Amino acid sequence: MTGLFLPQRIVDAMVLQAEAEDPKEACGLLSGQERIVREIHELTNADDSEDHFSMLPAEQFAVAKKVRATGTDILAVYHTHPTSPARPSEEDIRLAFAPDMVYLILSLLVPWRPELRGFRICDGEVIEIPIQVFDDQDYDPTKDYVI
Ligand SMILES: [Zn+2]
Repeated sequence: MTGLFLPQRIVDAMVLQAEAEDPKEACGLLSGQERIVREIHELTNADDSEDHFSMLPAEQFAVAKKVRATGTDILAVYHTHPTSPARPSEEDIRLAFAPDMVYLILSLLVPWRPELRGFRICDGEVIEIPIQVFDDQDYDPTKDYVI
C-alpha cells in the first residue's frame, strides 16, 4: 500500500484552516503528482457542522478543472475532526466513494498537537497509509521516493 508525501507548508495551511473553522469541521482537496502533494484547495463545508462535512459540488468541479489544466491529479480529500481522534467516523466510511483516494483526517482533539493521519477506504474497509511530511526545500524531483 502506498503512502503520501506532504510538504510541511501544506500541513501548516491545513492546521490554520482547521483552527479558523473550529469548532466546525473544515475540508478540502490536495493535488499533486504521483504521490507528492503540491497544492492545497480549501473548500467550504456545505454542512456547516461540528461533526460532519460535505463539499460543495461547484467548488469541487472548479478544483478538478484547475488541477486537470495543470496536468496534476487530486490525490487526497481532507477534513478535520475538531473534537474527535484522527480516524474515520462511521459516516466517513459510509460516504467514502473512491478507493484510490487518500482520506486525510486532521484532529484538533489535543489543540496544541494536531494529529494528521491518512487512510484508504474501500468497501467499508479502512487501511491506514503512511504520511511523510517533508520540507519543500529538501525536495529533489530526481529522487525516487518510496515509503
Ligand atoms: Zn470525519
